[in-house]
Amino acid sequence: MTATHVVINPATAAPVVELPLASLADADAAIEAAHAAFPAWRAMPPGERAALLRRFAAVVDAHLDELAELEVRNAGHTWGNARWEAGNVRDCLNYYAGAPERLFGRQIPVPGGVDVTFHEPLGVVGVIVPWNFPMPIAGWGFAPALAAGNTVVLKPAELTPLTAIRLGELALEAGLPEHVLTIVAGKGSVVGERFVTHPLVQKVCFTGSTEVGKRIMAGCAEQVKKVTLELGGKSSNIVFADADIDAAAASAPYAVFDNAGQDCCARSRILVERSAYDEFLSKLQPAVEGLRVLDPSDESSEMGPLISAGQKASVSEYLDEVDVAFAGSAPGGPGFWLPPSVVTVDDPATRIWREEVFGPVVAVMPFDDEADAVAKANDTEYGLSGSIFTTDLGRGLRVARAVEAGNLSVNSHSSVRYWTPFGGYKQSGLGRELGPDAPMAFTEEKNVFIAH
Ligand code: NAD
Repeated sequence: MTATHVVINPATAAPVVELPLASLADADAAIEAAHAAFPAWRAMPPGERAALLRRFAAVVDAHLDELAELEVRNAGHTWGNARWEAGNVRDCLNYYAGAPERLFGRQIPVPGGVDVTFHEPLGVVGVIVPWNFPMPIAGWGFAPALAAGNTVVLKPAELTPLTAIRLGELALEAGLPEHVLTIVAGKGSVVGERFVTHPLVQKVCFTGSTEVGKRIMAGCAEQVKKVTLELGGKSSNIVFADADIDAAAASAPYAVFDNAGQDCCARSRILVERSAYDEFLSKLQPAVEGLRVLDPSDESSEMGPLISAGQKASVSEYLDEVDVAFAGSAPGGPGFWLPPSVVTVDDPATRIWREEVFGPVVAVMPFDDEADAVAKANDTEYGLSGSIFTTDLGRGLRVARAVEAGNLSVNSHSSVRYWTPFGGYKQSGLGRELGPDAPMAFTEEKNVFIAH
């Protein structure tokens, strides 16, 4: 009998649809078909591959509302976020459609001949996607991988397979050849693991928890398989006393409570210079209390539910260990709801200060000076993102350079643009996604010498 999985609407806890789960044999068949599709895809003239990716982008654009609606129902994302996410897939495809014709090698001066380099595609790439941003993270993997001439097998998270499955259908509708992009919806322990162990998969592009990422890296070592890891985070929002405190307090909730805090880039720690600490907290409170935590099917909702009962229970455990300083509201009734909550922390050993909670919780701590702020921000095994609020541009740049993280923003909370590189220091990851170089990460550099 085929194993199935019931997809749940996290805002209501009601079932959305029951889907079959791919088996090991299904994963093997998808990988083998992707391997068979690779020679023709890599041999396609660059301009034709580019045109197909642009057509895929146009088809995604034509289905933007449909994709967004699926994500509102499947992941509890707000309409604003879900539309942005579908648009991000389109934009990524359009951006990387510029890559096939620009996969430049180099000509390097050597005696006795000519030396040139080529960027050759790898073959089959396995992309493993988490549940928190199902559409963008899928696109960040498949768009540059396809542009570089690889075929892709993609496994969405068990909880959120619907948009990935639809994107796979839209790729075919756009004219991508069969098996160039295949969605294999199944369990991590079955389909995800198979991407790691199957010898025809040349690279695994994984986004998810640090725990599973370590396991994937260890598994890939067996075949010296290439791997990109985008893992957890515990990022700091550092607010100096000279900052525009009103702006810093007004924007801080959106930097952590977006997607109900289920964001690897969430600024889940706020460090505030001691002289501005009380003022900042007094201004943060109305901003948190004013957040519109509503059913995401309501267009004005700013924060939706957590993804699952399990995730809600895990976040609640952290909250049970501390006193909440103040919190916003959340709907009652069914669904996996928690209010956005603020805790103040003195002891950096506190679990909620150290661990990635992955929910609508932010911990606030004072600091004494710039060196103390940097030391506290860096006192974590993670290093994904962070923000610095100050009116002293020199300090903004100095602190941005000193914080050990891949994505910093000064007087802003932006982390992700498809045309700038994204990834983590330390245990937040390995390698970079997005930006102009992303297709290179899906190629081997080959050097060829031709004697005169
Ligand atoms: P997860 O690690 O549990 O699962 C991620 C994906 O890996 C899922 O598709 C899952 O099915 C699969 N998987 C699970 N076990 C596997 C195994 N043994 N082999 C292969 N695949 C396996 O993570 P999650 O709970 O879905 O997502 C939340 C985590 O993702 C958080 O830690 C978050 O910080 C991280 N994340 C990181 C980024 C980033 O870019 N750095 C972005 C989003 C999420």
